[in-house]
Amino acid sequence: MTRRVLVASRNAKKLNELRRILDDAGVAGIEIIGLDDVPAYDEAPETAATFEENALAKARDGAAATGLACVADDSGIAVDALNGMPGVLSARWSGGHGDDAANNALLLAQLGDVPDERRGAQFVSACALVVPGGGETVVRGEWPGAIGLEPVGDGGFGYDPLFVPEGGDGTAAQLTPEAKNAVSHRGRALAQLLPTLAALAD
Ligand code: IMP
Repeated sequence: MTRRVLVASRNAKKLNELRRILDDAGVAGIEIIGLDDVPAYDEAPETAATFEENALAKARDGAAATGLACVADDSGIAVDALNGMPGVLSARWSGGHGDDAANNALLLAQLGDVPDERRGAQFVSACALVVPGGGETVVRGEWPGAIGLEPVGDGGFGYDPLFVPEGGDGTAAQLTPEAKNAVSHRGRALAQLLPTLAALAD
């Protein structure tokens, strides 16, 4: 029997990323659906102080509204020289929600005088899985790197053109989607949910 699992997102790339992770791990019997596949419900704004709380709130809402097991994520970038900010405020760092170019310009300006050795940063993703009548699981993935001196690359989204992953020689925006998913914060978090998801399929 196939078990439907809701991913609390309308982003087709996020849905496909989880489908690919399940496929690669040989987990069959789970059908991943998104918010566009279920009747609309009230989606609370992300107002918590941590990625974990935001992800869990979103997954609880999705599970309660649909009766389905629900996966939700919250992510952002934590910059060492800014004491971990923008953090949960990453999407709206420059004021408006999701203005990537303005967010990147503001972050670069804030780090204007910060030397290379203090430009460390981590992408962070918290993923929550809530099973109605079952348990709650919250995991966290981190992708360490540094903030570059100017945007480089056309791929990805958000802060990718500024983020130079540790051990690489380009930015996240220069990676193919497959290469990024294999090492990214979200890929690392979702991989930790695999055992719990696989148990749902049994
Ligand atoms: P959300 O969790 O999808 O709401 O993402 C929050 C914000 O964090 C995004 O708007 C981006 O600014 C940033 N972000 C999260 N993950 C990534 C990533 O993989 N690359 C670049 N920016 C990211």
